[in-house]
Amino acid sequence: MKTLNLSKKLYLLREYLFPLNCAVCGETLLDEEDAWIGLCGECAESFQVDSGKRCSACGRPLISELDICMSCRKIDGNAYDSMTLMYPYTGREQQVLKAYKFGKHRSLARFFSEKLLSAMNGFQAGKVLPSGLPWIPVPPRAGKLKASGWDQVELIAKTLEKLYHVPVRRCLKRLASKTQKELGKSERMTNLKGRIICSGSVPEEAIVFDDVFTTGATMNACAGTLKDSGVKKVHGLCLFYS
Ligand SMILES: [Zn+2]
Ligand SMILES: [Zn+2]
Repeated sequence: MKTLNLSKKLYLLREYLFPLNCAVCGETLLDEEDAWIGLCGECAESFQVDSGKRCSACGRPLISELDICMSCRKIDGNAYDSMTLMYPYTGREQQVLKAYKFGKHRSLARFFSEKLLSAMNGFQAGKVLPSGLPWIPVPPRAGKLKASGWDQVELIAKTLEKLYHVPVRRCLKRLASKTQKELGKSERMTNLKGRIICSGSVPEEAIVFDDVFTTGATMNACAGTLKDSGVKKVHGLCLFYS
Protein backbone atom coordinates (compact mmCIF):
# COMPACT_ATOMS: atom_id res chain seq x y z
CA MET A 1 0.00 0.00 0.00
CA LYS A 2 2.91 2.30 0.87
CA THR A 3 4.41 1.96 -2.62
CA LEU A 4 1.01 2.62 -4.16
CA ASN A 5 0.70 5.84 -2.19
CA LEU A 6 4.18 6.88 -3.23
CA SER A 7 3.43 6.09 -6.87
CA LYS A 8 0.32 8.25 -6.67
CA LYS A 9 2.38 11.16 -5.34
CA LEU A 10 4.85 10.72 -8.19
CA TYR A 11 2.06 10.70 -10.73
CA LEU A 12 0.72 13.96 -9.37
CA LEU A 13 4.20 15.45 -9.64
CA ARG A 14 4.53 14.18 -13.20
CA GLU A 15 1.10 15.56 -14.03
CA TYR A 16 2.20 18.94 -12.67
CA LEU A 17 5.42 18.93 -14.73
CA PHE A 18 4.10 17.29 -17.92
CA PRO A 19 0.32 17.59 -17.83
CA LEU A 20 -1.65 14.91 -19.68
CA ASN A 21 -4.95 16.26 -18.32
CA CYS A 22 -8.24 14.32 -18.12
CA ALA A 23 -8.30 11.73 -20.91
CA VAL A 24 -11.89 12.62 -21.75
CA CYS A 25 -12.63 16.29 -21.11
CA GLY A 26 -9.11 17.70 -20.96
CA GLU A 27 -9.59 19.20 -17.49
CA THR A 28 -6.41 19.88 -15.47
CA LEU A 29 -5.76 17.13 -12.92
CA LEU A 30 -4.87 18.66 -9.58
CA ASP A 31 -5.63 15.75 -7.32
CA GLU A 32 -3.47 12.70 -6.55
CA GLU A 33 -6.22 10.18 -7.29
CA ASP A 34 -7.22 11.94 -10.52
CA ALA A 35 -3.63 12.05 -11.82
CA TRP A 36 -3.24 8.38 -10.94
CA ILE A 37 -6.22 7.24 -13.03
CA GLY A 38 -5.91 9.92 -15.73
CA LEU A 39 -9.45 11.21 -15.27
CA CYS A 40 -10.97 14.24 -13.55
CA GLY A 41 -13.40 13.64 -10.68
CA GLU A 42 -16.44 14.45 -12.79
CA CYS A 43 -15.55 12.00 -15.59
CA ALA A 44 -14.64 9.28 -13.09
CA GLU A 45 -17.88 9.73 -11.18
CA SER A 46 -19.97 9.21 -14.29
CA PHE A 47 -19.17 5.51 -13.86
CA GLN A 48 -22.16 4.28 -11.92
CA VAL A 49 -23.23 0.68 -11.71
CA ASP A 50 -26.91 -0.01 -12.34
CA SER A 51 -27.79 -1.90 -9.19
CA GLY A 52 -31.22 -2.98 -10.44
CA LYS A 53 -32.22 -6.52 -11.37
CA ARG A 54 -29.94 -8.33 -13.82
CA CYS A 55 -30.42 -11.17 -16.29
CA SER A 56 -29.61 -14.38 -14.47
CA ALA A 57 -27.77 -15.72 -17.53
CA CYS A 58 -25.71 -12.85 -18.95
CA GLY A 59 -25.77 -10.20 -16.23
CA ARG A 60 -27.27 -7.39 -18.32
CA PRO A 61 -29.75 -5.10 -16.54
CA LEU A 62 -33.31 -6.29 -17.07
CA ILE A 63 -36.12 -4.18 -18.41
CA SER A 64 -38.86 -6.79 -18.10
CA GLU A 65 -40.09 -8.59 -15.01
CA LEU A 66 -38.69 -11.86 -16.24
CA ASP A 67 -35.45 -13.37 -15.01
CA ILE A 68 -33.75 -13.74 -18.37
CA CYS A 69 -33.19 -11.08 -21.04
CA MET A 70 -34.48 -11.30 -24.61
CA SER A 71 -31.17 -12.28 -26.20
CA CYS A 72 -30.49 -15.00 -23.62
CA ARG A 73 -33.94 -16.49 -24.20
CA LYS A 74 -32.87 -17.19 -27.76
CA ILE A 75 -29.74 -19.15 -26.90
CA ASP A 76 -29.30 -22.52 -25.34
CA GLY A 77 -27.36 -21.82 -22.13
CA ASN A 78 -23.90 -20.41 -21.56
CA ALA A 79 -20.56 -22.09 -20.92
CA TYR A 80 -19.78 -19.74 -18.04
CA ASP A 81 -21.33 -20.15 -14.61
CA SER A 82 -21.83 -16.49 -13.83
CA MET A 83 -21.36 -13.17 -15.57
CA THR A 84 -20.77 -9.78 -14.01
CA LEU A 85 -21.19 -6.83 -16.36
CA MET A 86 -20.39 -3.42 -14.98
CA TYR A 87 -21.16 -0.36 -17.11
CA PRO A 88 -23.21 0.37 -20.22
CA TYR A 89 -21.02 1.07 -23.24
CA THR A 90 -22.59 4.47 -23.87
CA GLY A 91 -21.94 8.16 -23.23
CA ARG A 92 -18.98 9.10 -21.08
CA GLU A 93 -18.19 5.46 -20.24
CA GLN A 94 -17.72 4.79 -23.94
CA GLN A 95 -15.56 7.91 -24.31
CA VAL A 96 -13.28 6.70 -21.54
CA LEU A 97 -12.73 3.30 -23.16
CA LYS A 98 -12.09 4.98 -26.51
CA ALA A 99 -9.57 7.34 -24.92
CA TYR A 100 -7.82 4.27 -23.55
CA LYS A 101 -7.95 2.13 -26.67
CA PHE A 102 -7.42 4.67 -29.38
CA GLY A 103 -5.92 7.64 -27.52
CA LYS A 104 -3.56 5.32 -25.68
CA HIS A 105 -4.19 6.97 -22.32
CA ARG A 106 -2.50 4.16 -20.47
CA SER A 107 -3.10 5.53 -16.99
CA LEU A 108 -6.71 4.48 -17.54
CA ALA A 109 -5.56 0.86 -17.09
CA ARG A 110 -5.27 1.72 -13.40
CA PHE A 111 -8.76 3.16 -13.39
CA PHE A 112 -10.17 0.05 -15.10
CA SER A 113 -8.26 -2.27 -12.77
CA GLU A 114 -9.69 -0.53 -9.73
CA LYS A 115 -13.17 -0.75 -11.22
CA LEU A 116 -12.84 -4.48 -11.95
CA LEU A 117 -11.64 -5.08 -8.41
CA SER A 118 -14.57 -3.14 -7.01
CA ALA A 119 -16.89 -5.65 -8.72
CA MET A 120 -15.52 -8.37 -6.45
CA ASN A 121 -17.70 -7.12 -3.63
CA GLY A 122 -20.79 -7.58 -5.72
CA PHE A 123 -23.19 -4.90 -6.83
CA GLN A 124 -25.82 -7.43 -7.80
CA ALA A 125 -27.81 -8.81 -4.90
CA GLY A 126 -26.42 -12.10 -3.69
CA LYS A 127 -23.63 -12.14 -6.24
CA VAL A 128 -20.15 -11.82 -4.81
CA LEU A 129 -17.21 -13.06 -6.84
CA PRO A 130 -15.02 -15.46 -4.86
CA SER A 131 -11.70 -13.91 -3.89
CA GLY A 132 -8.29 -15.52 -4.34
CA LEU A 133 -9.15 -17.04 -7.71
CA PRO A 134 -6.83 -16.70 -10.69
CA TRP A 135 -7.89 -14.13 -13.28
CA ILE A 136 -7.65 -15.08 -16.93
CA PRO A 137 -7.60 -12.32 -19.56
CA VAL A 138 -9.60 -12.84 -22.74
CA PRO A 139 -6.92 -13.21 -25.43
CA PRO A 140 -6.72 -10.60 -28.19
CA ARG A 141 -7.73 -11.33 -31.74
CA ALA A 142 -4.91 -12.62 -33.85
CA GLY A 143 -3.68 -9.69 -35.90
CA LYS A 144 -5.07 -7.13 -33.48
CA LEU A 145 -1.70 -6.59 -31.87
CA LYS A 146 -0.18 -5.97 -35.24
CA ALA A 147 -2.90 -3.49 -36.16
CA SER A 148 -3.04 -1.47 -32.95
CA GLY A 149 0.41 -2.18 -31.55
CA TRP A 150 -0.77 -3.14 -28.08
CA ASP A 151 -3.18 -5.33 -26.17
CA GLN A 152 -5.50 -3.23 -24.03
CA VAL A 153 -6.76 -6.12 -21.91
CA GLU A 154 -3.22 -7.34 -21.29
CA LEU A 155 -2.21 -3.93 -19.93
CA ILE A 156 -5.09 -4.19 -17.45
CA ALA A 157 -3.92 -7.72 -16.59
CA LYS A 158 -0.39 -6.46 -15.98
CA THR A 159 -1.68 -3.62 -13.83
CA LEU A 160 -3.85 -5.97 -11.78
CA GLU A 161 -0.88 -8.22 -11.28
CA LYS A 162 1.78 -5.66 -10.49
CA LEU A 163 -0.09 -3.02 -8.54
CA TYR A 164 -2.93 -4.98 -6.99
CA HIS A 165 -1.32 -8.43 -6.64
CA VAL A 166 -4.07 -10.25 -8.49
CA PRO A 167 -2.97 -13.76 -9.60
CA VAL A 168 -3.20 -13.58 -13.40
CA ARG A 169 -3.07 -16.75 -15.47
CA ARG A 170 -2.51 -16.31 -19.21
CA CYS A 171 -3.61 -19.72 -20.40
CA LEU A 172 -5.86 -18.76 -23.30
CA LYS A 173 -4.78 -17.98 -26.85
CA ARG A 174 -6.81 -17.05 -29.87
CA LEU A 175 -6.04 -18.41 -33.29
CA ALA A 176 -6.63 -16.40 -36.44
CA SER A 177 -10.25 -16.16 -37.52
CA LYS A 178 -12.52 -13.74 -39.35
CA THR A 179 -13.06 -10.47 -37.48
CA GLN A 180 -15.89 -10.95 -34.99
CA LYS A 181 -17.40 -7.54 -35.67
CA GLU A 182 -18.28 -8.43 -39.24
CA LEU A 183 -20.33 -11.46 -38.24
CA GLY A 184 -23.81 -12.07 -36.85
CA LYS A 185 -24.29 -13.78 -33.49
CA SER A 186 -24.68 -17.37 -34.70
CA GLU A 187 -21.79 -16.91 -37.11
CA ARG A 188 -19.70 -15.56 -34.24
CA MET A 189 -20.34 -18.69 -32.20
CA THR A 190 -19.23 -20.97 -35.02
CA ASN A 191 -16.36 -18.73 -35.97
CA LEU A 192 -14.92 -18.91 -32.48
CA LYS A 193 -15.41 -22.61 -31.93
CA GLY A 194 -12.01 -24.23 -31.74
CA ARG A 195 -10.27 -20.90 -32.26
CA ILE A 196 -9.60 -20.33 -28.59
CA ILE A 197 -7.11 -22.73 -27.16
CA CYS A 198 -5.89 -23.40 -23.65
CA SER A 199 -2.32 -24.24 -22.71
CA GLY A 200 -0.57 -25.06 -19.47
CA SER A 201 -2.13 -26.14 -16.20
CA VAL A 202 -5.57 -24.83 -15.38
CA PRO A 203 -7.19 -23.94 -12.06
CA GLU A 204 -10.38 -25.54 -10.72
CA GLU A 205 -12.17 -22.21 -10.75
CA ALA A 206 -11.31 -18.90 -12.39
CA ILE A 207 -12.44 -15.40 -13.30
CA VAL A 208 -12.24 -14.59 -17.00
CA PHE A 209 -12.20 -10.87 -17.71
CA ASP A 210 -12.57 -8.63 -20.74
CA ASP A 211 -13.27 -5.00 -21.60
CA VAL A 212 -16.52 -5.14 -23.60
CA PHE A 213 -19.26 -7.79 -23.62
CA THR A 214 -21.28 -7.63 -26.83
CA THR A 215 -22.96 -10.88 -27.83
CA GLY A 216 -21.16 -12.98 -25.26
CA ALA A 217 -19.70 -15.20 -27.99
CA THR A 218 -16.08 -14.57 -27.00
CA MET A 219 -16.80 -15.16 -23.32
CA ASN A 220 -18.68 -18.34 -24.13
CA ALA A 221 -15.86 -19.61 -26.30
CA CYS A 222 -13.28 -18.85 -23.59
CA ALA A 223 -15.40 -20.49 -20.89
CA GLY A 224 -16.10 -23.47 -23.16
CA THR A 225 -12.41 -24.02 -23.85
CA LEU A 226 -11.56 -23.73 -20.15
CA LYS A 227 -14.29 -26.21 -19.24
CA ASP A 228 -13.02 -28.65 -21.87
CA SER A 229 -9.55 -28.27 -20.36
CA GLY A 230 -10.76 -29.20 -16.89
CA VAL A 231 -11.83 -25.95 -15.23
CA LYS A 232 -14.96 -26.64 -13.19
CA LYS A 233 -16.28 -23.14 -12.65
CA VAL A 234 -15.87 -20.02 -14.77
CA HIS A 235 -16.98 -16.56 -13.64
CA GLY A 236 -17.06 -13.87 -16.31
CA LEU A 237 -16.31 -10.23 -15.53
CA CYS A 238 -16.52 -7.41 -18.06
CA LEU A 239 -16.17 -3.67 -17.66
CA PHE A 240 -18.75 -2.77 -20.29
CA TYR A 241 -21.78 -4.27 -21.97
CA SER A 242 -23.32 -3.10 -25.20
ZN1 LIG B 1 -12.82 14.89 -17.27
ZN1 LIG C 1 -29.16 -12.16 -20.70
